[in-house]
Amino acid sequence: MSLVIEDMPDLGVTRLSRWIFNCYILRTDEGTVVVDAGLPHAAADLAARIDGPLHAVVATHGHSDHVAGAPELAAHHGAPIWLPTATLGYLDGTRPRTPTLAAAARIWPTYMDQPFDRVGLAGFVSGAWVAGYGTPAGMRWRGSAPEGGLADGQPLPGAPDWTVINAEGHTDDSIALWNPATRTLLSGDAVLTARGKVWHTPEVVDPSSAASTRQRLERLPVAHLLPGHGRPVHANETVWSEQRSRSHAPRAR
Ligand SMILES: [Zn+2]
Repeated sequence: MSLVIEDMPDLGVTRLSRWIFNCYILRTDEGTVVVDAGLPHAAADLAARIDGPLHAVVATHGHSDHVAGAPELAAHHGAPIWLPTATLGYLDGTRPRTPTLAAAARIWPTYMDQPFDRVGLAGFVSGAWVAGYGTPAGMRWRGSAPEGGLADGQPLPGAPDWTVINAEGHTDDSIALWNPATRTLLSGDAVLTARGKVWHTPEVVDPSSAASTRQRLERLPVAHLLPGHGRPVHANETVWSEQRSRSHAPRAR
């Protein structure tokens, strides 16, 4: 087992990771929310770390490695699922655009940057059959229907300290989550990290919207970047201008 758990108590965030697949627990005064329960194994991985009620399960986009664990986790806790508004359109039959395998291969430095985990890889493969998209089969969904959509500027259901920000480019349904009080950006796949550096993903379906997203995100004074794939990066000023290493040492299980 190499489930990595990283508590960031000053941010109210815990990161769980298997290989490159990050999942986050957000804890606020209003509630507890899980972001990107991507692996079918997520409910089991998270079970011991969610003691009280779970107020929402959300995703930064509809790729399988961000939503495949959501139906089971939500059912287990009786929590509603909220997906980006564009992702809901895919459930209704709109065909998602997804990066090519060649584009996906371009993020190899991120794959190399976290400890490999067999369960994570197996979950990634099997999860594509459960929920989400990324294969020629388009969007799949098993489990109860999502409660609703996440739109730009909206407070995050269950954790309104966080605001939804559209972040298209990697996919057309990508969002990020921003917490202005702690200056933390949960970037989904719009921004990755590798070797301790932030990295606007080269894995995109739409270069021009990716460029707009980059401009928009770089206007935020981000001190803590929590990526969909890669290790978090922290800075005294902003992660865009400088980066420092951090005291929160991940523990391997
Ligand atoms: Zn993705």
